[in-house]
Amino acid sequence: MIPLGGLHEIGKNITVLEYKDDLMIIDCGMSFPDDEMFGIDIVIPDFTYLIKNREKIRGMVITHGHEDHIGAIPYLVNEINLPIYGTRLTLGLVENKLKEHNLKAKLKVVRPGDKIKLGAFSVETIRTTHSIADSICLCIDTPAGKIFHTGDFKVDYTPLEGQPIDFHRLAEIGNEGVLLLMADSTNAERKGYTPSERTVGVTIENIFRNCTSRILVATFSSNIHRVQKIIDTAVQYNRKVAISGRSMINVVNLAIELGYITVPAGTLVDINKIRHIKDSELVIITTGSQGEPMSALSRMASNDHKAVQIKKGDVVVLSSSPIPGNEKTISNVVNKLFEKGAEVIYSDIADIHVSGHACAEELKLIHSLLKPKFFVPVHGEYRHLRQHAMIAEELGMDKKNIFMMDNGEVLEISPNKAVKTKEEVPCQGVMVDGLGVGDVGNIVLRDRKLLSEGGLIIVAVGIERSTGEVMTGPDIISRGFVYVREAEDLIEQMRRIAFDRLQICRVEGIRDWAAMKNWVRDDLRDYIYQTTKRSPVILPIFMEV
Ligand SMILES: [Zn+2]
Ligand SMILES: [Zn+2]
Repeated sequence: MIPLGGLHEIGKNITVLEYKDDLMIIDCGMSFPDDEMFGIDIVIPDFTYLIKNREKIRGMVITHGHEDHIGAIPYLVNEINLPIYGTRLTLGLVENKLKEHNLKAKLKVVRPGDKIKLGAFSVETIRTTHSIADSICLCIDTPAGKIFHTGDFKVDYTPLEGQPIDFHRLAEIGNEGVLLLMADSTNAERKGYTPSERTVGVTIENIFRNCTSRILVATFSSNIHRVQKIIDTAVQYNRKVAISGRSMINVVNLAIELGYITVPAGTLVDINKIRHIKDSELVIITTGSQGEPMSALSRMASNDHKAVQIKKGDVVVLSSSPIPGNEKTISNVVNKLFEKGAEVIYSDIADIHVSGHACAEELKLIHSLLKPKFFVPVHGEYRHLRQHAMIAEELGMDKKNIFMMDNGEVLEISPNKAVKTKEEVPCQGVMVDGLGVGDVGNIVLRDRKLLSEGGLIIVAVGIERSTGEVMTGPDIISRGFVYVREAEDLIEQMRRIAFDRLQICRVEGIRDWAAMKNWVRDDLRDYIYQTTKRSPVILPIFMEV
């Protein structure tokens, strides 16, 4: 078993199982860049190992349709055309994603309970509950024994739609004997239980019941059951529904098409045609619950949205909780909404969101049902994995049977033994910037960091190569350093310093342009630092005249 991503991080989940000449993959997600990754759009797993072993790959099984499980599929399909198995909604989302990349793949729809044969592996898909419909966990029969992968899950006994986890099957599998368990660790630090999605439904109803204003609800587009609940409640209180935001429109359309969302005829209205609808008869469902600056909600709050402006009296519901790192952007949007006179309801002040991941007591239930011989906590930062390992210990599991793994490590499992081998598989995240995949590395990132901190100064000079005479310039061009017109003295002085250094070179007969550039750069760096205490990137450009 090789985790290629998803450990020591929340994001880019991907796991490889290999037996002799057969290899299968579980999930293929992306992650978002951290603050140091300037200009990077997304991060995907390193596929080197998969490309090297492409002959062995029998297929990939996707547990559910969240970005951290499907987001990198187009990049893999671009390299390897492998069969991809998943439930209907999951593959619908995958197909949309592939279309955006002009790709096609062998998508194979399965239903919970189906079995998939992938070489030496026989994968049983089992219904589970999470914050997106159609999630499954996997029980994989291998020649060594059963491997159980929970996917992302929570224990919701009363989901809004559909059924709870197939506990009956889990107990049976536990009795048949589980060799290795890999389980979601996201909420392992949290005690108790994650409340049912139904509690959010109650809060939504309470908000609608006594409200005569326009209502806007921002939530995750993938939380289809919640979107359905909002639509149902709107219908119940005689409101029309408008959908806003690209991903919300895409996912809702797909969900309606596949029958996961049902909307009575006449309920949906075009967001551009809401002008004629009374405030008390309208709900807008929108993206932007994480405060993303370009999202529909942010633009509404900044008067930058074509169809909707926030106005006094609007009730805005943020049905989400901050993904770690997004607190600041969310806070900005909440402030703006309040300033516009809206009443804002968010997770700090109302039960308007529940997590999709299991808390400690739910994890205990799953461990107790499955009774694995070996355990690897997955899907979490190091501290989440650690807490999950401690929960397993608490339940009586032998410490030496719990493996704290990192991406790229290899766990070799036989019926009675599991060992981490010395082997390491490439697993550094690959950065995607625009159309470029992996072409932005550490050196480019370092430059971007320096540019972002100090700006850029270009020193352009025309030089006669044989005599070393300065023919034109030096001209100083700056970006992000100082505003040139307000710093003429400084610029003039820099010009002087560069010129003086080039004069010395000429007199001393130095014609090596690389060395001359270094001197000019050093002189300017010293001067700029002394006078401004700043360190811009300095780029001398010499032209032969
Ligand atoms: Zn998920
Ligand atoms: Zn996930």
